[in-house]
Amino acid sequence: MQGASAGKPIVVVGAGSTGSSTAYHLAKAGQRVVLVDRGQIANGTTSRSSAVVRTHYSNEVVARMALYSRDVLKDFSSVGESGFNRTGMLILAPPEIRETVLGNIAMLNGIGARNDFMEIPEAMEAFPEFNYDDIGFAVLEPESGYADPVGVANSYARSAERQGAQLLLGTEVSRLKAPSGTVESVELSDGSQIECSKVMLCTNVWTNELLARSGVAPDRFLPIWAVGHPMVAFNRPASYHGNRPVVWDYPQKTYYKPEGRYLVYVGTVDSALDQRHSDPAQVSQDVGSETLESFTGALVTRMPLMAEGVLHSTYVGMYDVTPDQHPIIDELSELGLSGVFCCAGLSGHGFKLSPALGLMNAEMVMGETGIFGRTFDRSIFALSRFKEGKEMRAKYPGMAAVA
Ligand SMILES: Cc1cc2nc3c(=O)[nH]c(=O)nc-3n(C[C@H](O)[C@H](O)[C@H](O)COP(=O)(O)OP(=O)(O)OC[C@H]3O[C@@H](n4cnc5c(N)ncnc54)[C@H](O)[C@@H]3O)c2cc1C
Repeated sequence: MQGASAGKPIVVVGAGSTGSSTAYHLAKAGQRVVLVDRGQIANGTTSRSSAVVRTHYSNEVVARMALYSRDVLKDFSSVGESGFNRTGMLILAPPEIRETVLGNIAMLNGIGARNDFMEIPEAMEAFPEFNYDDIGFAVLEPESGYADPVGVANSYARSAERQGAQLLLGTEVSRLKAPSGTVESVELSDGSQIECSKVMLCTNVWTNELLARSGVAPDRFLPIWAVGHPMVAFNRPASYHGNRPVVWDYPQKTYYKPEGRYLVYVGTVDSALDQRHSDPAQVSQDVGSETLESFTGALVTRMPLMAEGVLHSTYVGMYDVTPDQHPIIDELSELGLSGVFCCAGLSGHGFKLSPALGLMNAEMVMGETGIFGRTFDRSIFALSRFKEGKEMRAKYPGMAAVA
């Protein structure tokens, strides 16, 4: 890695999993970094994450990012604690997508992301707790699971700090200042300024809000909107305690994420929900009785033993959604903000990718490739893809974030 650089710092805005990993990678590469968040580390959407860590994507670049990231989260001791819990991930799929999934599994196994195809009898023997009436086959990712998102963000941010980064918590960036089209400083909410060489925005659903305050007109906002995602947790009956797999229930477009040994969280992977554009401030925090009923119904239909489960709690988290449900990782020169970079629009699947995203963001800001001994093709995440018809296409119809 390079030696510590003198001169103006790089300001990373947002200390969620993305910004903290970015600050860590920049500090590791010897850059002067200031990581700023208006709250505490991970107080944004990271704290509400289901934090499922899987590699099953149908875009090869994203699958490679996920595989690399899972390896990092599994062996995180050089950074801190990730809380990775290997539960395995099981996909229960309808017969009509068999060919698509088989093609995808070949790609995934080809890059080393082990995915095992299971015919129904085999799946029933291994996982007898599920109802297979509308299921055509299953896929098991034995190495996947979930991690602790707040722990990961804290580990990255504090490790960045140990490597020389400055952390400014409880401090809002109120404006980016680029009087001649290239960023020169950021203004903080107390009126003070940080002169900087570059700015990296890891500000999730709040990115356009900051751009607006920096003089970007609404018609040039990034195509990112907020969507409230309800989550419902149940206490499991004793017959379903223990380390259990994360489950994607494709026919019902829901997922079941075990937490520890006694709880299971239910969430949705229905792309239709993500078309409901909202302003972050307007996202209701109420799960609502209709959702509660439909999530309970889906869970009990798929796992009849959960009829003995007991409601534990509910909450709503926000996704920062883009039209193709993949992030925008780019410099914002076309908005008159050269030197300002962004990694936002993670569309509800950005936690598991945070090790790769931090690496890619650091490479982008530094204008160098391969400094961490590994690289990923960033060009597919360019902002211009939405105008140029190069959006990433989902191979699994109706399922969010599998593109
Ligand atoms: C319910 C739910 C379930 C999810 N499940 C999964 C999953 O299973 N697997 C997975 O991989 N991902 C999942 N995700 C998505 C994942 O959690 C997010 O993509 C990821 O954590 C986003 O991290 P971030 O750092 O980009 O954003 P955030 O954590 O939101 O961080 C942004 C930060 O920016 C700060 N900020 C914003 N504006 C300013 C400003 N002007 N000045 C200073 N600070 C500012 C905020 O305070 C915040 O801390 C889920 C998300 C939700 C909500």
